[in-house]
Amino acid sequence: MKNITIIGTGYVGLVTGVGLSEFGNNVICTDIDKDKILQLNSEVIPIYEPGLKEILNRNVKSDRLFFSDDISSAIKNSEVIIIAVGTPQTEQGKANMSYVNSVVKSISQNLNNYKIICTKSTVPIGSGKKIIDTLSNDFDEGSNFDYVSNPEFLREGSAVKDFLWPDRIVVGTSSDRAFKIMCDIYRPLYINKNPIKHTTVETAEMIKYASNSFLALKISYINEIANLCELVGADIHDVANAMGQDGRISDKFLHPGPGFGGSCFPKDLESLIAISNEKNLPMETLKAASNANKNQKDRMCIKLEGLVDGGLKNKKIALLGLSFKANTDDIRESSAIDMINFILNKGGFVRAYDPIANGSMSKIFKNISYFDDVYDAIRDTDCIVVMTEWNEFRSLDLPRIKKIMNDNFILDTRNIIDMSELSRLNFVYDNVGRLKI
Ligand code: NAD
Repeated sequence: MKNITIIGTGYVGLVTGVGLSEFGNNVICTDIDKDKILQLNSEVIPIYEPGLKEILNRNVKSDRLFFSDDISSAIKNSEVIIIAVGTPQTEQGKANMSYVNSVVKSISQNLNNYKIICTKSTVPIGSGKKIIDTLSNDFDEGSNFDYVSNPEFLREGSAVKDFLWPDRIVVGTSSDRAFKIMCDIYRPLYINKNPIKHTTVETAEMIKYASNSFLALKISYINEIANLCELVGADIHDVANAMGQDGRISDKFLHPGPGFGGSCFPKDLESLIAISNEKNLPMETLKAASNANKNQKDRMCIKLEGLVDGGLKNKKIALLGLSFKANTDDIRESSAIDMINFILNKGGFVRAYDPIANGSMSKIFKNISYFDDVYDAIRDTDCIVVMTEWNEFRSLDLPRIKKIMNDNFILDTRNIIDMSELSRLNFVYDNVGRLKI
C-alpha cells in the first residue's frame, strides 16, 4: 500500500482519492482551490456523486484520506503523484494543458526521492513524453522518477461504482517498476483479476480519446437514426432495442436525446479532431459526430418552437433538468444551456427545476427563475421541456400537471414520459424519434 498525492480534487481527483484510500492506500487530495479543501475538511462534499460521502467519511475516519492545499509537502511525502486537473477545450478545439503544465512545474520543484508521476487527466497523445522531458530537464539526477499514463473512464453519476469496479485499468508506462507499483495501488482489483492493461504511454493516451470519441460517435449515430425515424414513420425505441440485441452492437449508448454534453465527450472529440488534423489525417467520422451533435441541440430548439402554438414570445416554459445527464450536478456543455439561450432569445421566460443542479446553472443564468419543487416550476406555464433523464421525471403526475398548466405542450427530449398517458390527457407533445400514439 502506497502514500499517494492527488493533485486536482474535482470530479475525477476526488473520486480517485476516495477510491484509492478505500483500496487501503494513504491518500492526500490536494487542490489550489483553498475553499474546496476547507469544505472537504469540514465534511462538505463540493460535488454531487451518489455513494461518495459514505466511503469518503469512512476513509477519513480511518486516517487514510486527507485534504490539503499544501501541494509541495504532499508531493514530498508521497511515492505516487497523480495529476487530475482539468484539461478544458481551448478556442481552437485543443486541450488546454496550462493546468497540467503548472502542476508538472510544482512536481519538478518538489522531487526529493523516487516517485511515480501519473497522469489521470485526459491529455493529448504525446503529452506524456513532453512531461517526461520537462521533469528530466528540471530534475538533477535525471531519472529518479517513472512516468505513467493512467487514464480514467469513470462516468459522472456512477463514478464511485465505476472506480471501484472498473471494466479495465489502463497503465501506460515503459517502466516495469512503475507498473508493479501501479498494480499495488489497485491491489484489490488486481487480486480479483480485473483486467489491468499494460501499454506504452502513447497507447494509453490514445485509448482514452478513442474510447470517448467512439461513444460520442455512437450517440450521434442513434440521434440521427432517431431523426430519420420521425420522417419515415419508424419508432426509434424498437429500432435501438433490436439493434442492441446484436452482441456486435450492444445496447449501451443507443438512447436518443438532445445531444451529448458534459465535460468529456465534446472536448475530447474536438481534441482528437485537432490531433488528427495536425497529423494531416483528418478524421471524417469524428467531424461528423461533432457536427451531428451540434445539429441535434439545434433540432431540439426548433422542435420546441414548432410545437408551441404562436411561437415562444412571452410564453412561460418549464425546463425540467439542467445537468448534462442524470445523477450529477455537472452542467458543463449541457444541452439545457442551448435550450435556455434559445428560449430567452425568442422572448420566452424560463422556469427551471433540477433536483441538484439549480445552483450550478444559476452561476451562468441569473435572469431565469429556479424552483425547488417540480410542480411549482410547472405551474402556470405554457410548455414543459424535459432536458435531463432524472428518474423523478419518469413518474410525473400528469393529471395534476394538466390542471396547473396554462397550456398543454410537452417536449420530452429524453423519451421518458408515457406517450399513451400524454395522449389520453390531450397533451400536445413531441419527443425524439418515437411513433406518436
Ligand atoms: P474538475 O474541473 O472537476 O477538477 C479539476 C480540479 O483541479 C479543480 O478542483 C481545480 O481547482 C484543480 N486545479 C486546477 N489547477 C490546479 C493546480 N495547479 N494545482 C492543484 N489543483 C488544481 O475536472 P474533472 O472533471 O475532475 O476532470 C479532470 C480531468 O479528468 C480532465 O482532464 C478530464 O478530461 C478527465 N476526466 C474527467 C471525467 C469526468 O467524468 N469528469 C472522466 C474521465 C476523465
